Amino acid sequence: MEEDNTDAAPEAKPFYSGLFSAIVPCRDEEESIPVFYGEFISQMAKMGNPQFEIIFVEDGSKDRTLEVLKELSESDNRVRFISFSRNFGKEAAMYAGMKEARGDYIAVMDCDLQDPPSLLPDMFKALDSEGYDCAAARRITRDGEPPVRSFAVKCFYRILNSLSPLKFAEGARDFRLMRRRTLETILSMQEYNRFTKGMYEWIGGKTKWIEYPNAGRRAGRTKWSIWGLAIYSLDALTSFSTVPLALAAVLGIAFCALSAVAIVFLSIRQMIFHNSAYGWTSMVCILFFLSGLQLFCLGVLGHYMSKIYLESKRRPHYVVSERSKER
Ligand code: UDP
Ligand code: MG
Repeated sequence: MEEDNTDAAPEAKPFYSGLFSAIVPCRDEEESIPVFYGEFISQMAKMGNPQFEIIFVEDGSKDRTLEVLKELSESDNRVRFISFSRNFGKEAAMYAGMKEARGDYIAVMDCDLQDPPSLLPDMFKALDSEGYDCAAARRITRDGEPPVRSFAVKCFYRILNSLSPLKFAEGARDFRLMRRRTLETILSMQEYNRFTKGMYEWIGGKTKWIEYPNAGRRAGRTKWSIWGLAIYSLDALTSFSTVPLALAAVLGIAFCALSAVAIVFLSIRQMIFHNSAYGWTSMVCILFFLSGLQLFCLGVLGHYMSKIYLESKRRPHYVVSERSKER
């Protein structure tokens, strides 16, 4: 540790001192795990074989993921795993991995190599010699992704950034290198509805964005459906913005003002022309519109209420059914 304070040339030092923990959530990744492991180990070798551990979090897989992880952790004692009793989602898996991590530096990485381990040296450099608190990866292209998904993601970031006081980088991945103190802060945020990318923004501090072109999945298939992404986006939006609630109130006030104008106008027209039946079509249209708007506002309220409901139960974020041998 003492060498850190000397002025030795960076090449002469190992990339970092201390333990590095890589957290890898995986669901149905029997094909990806060996590929990830191979690539990760060769990256560590390029970085001078520093001390590291890999924590795989098996998130309710239906394939042979757990068996593959058991074999791997038997053959390499730097590999640990925990296995969930069912699928709890990637957010829960990341949270679980963070709780397990023992490292001084911690990174969350996808199993499919869409988070290239080759970015790690730049990330370590950002933390160790450039004075950043975090280094995070950001995709600058989306080649190979279905256009519908790219478009939906773009819209989501636009809406999120316009509604939230925090700013979210488009294309930001969950792939990020942080120090222990950042991890502790994230873990101190105990909320049940988690959007970790937003939590990093909420904490603040200096983040170095490392940009790279999209890398396709090496093996297996994506676990996200459009519907799953839509629900996740809605949760993220309401976790980091209360603007939709205010919007409902503003709309209510605007329509009250509009109805005051309409009442005056219609009363005067009735007094002069005595033709109340006139305007039936417009009346029905307005009725439909306002009913829709009211239901929408109720929906917004309901969504926030359901989140309070889920938070108030204080259930565990996940249930572990199996784990690697203690070492
Ligand atoms: N994942 C998970 N639980 C889930 C869905 C995904 O642990 O319910 C893992 C998955 O195995 C992968 C990472 O999260 O390591 C990212 O998932 P995926 O590649 O399917 O998402 P995409 O890259 O398409 O956004
Ligand atoms: Mg992926």
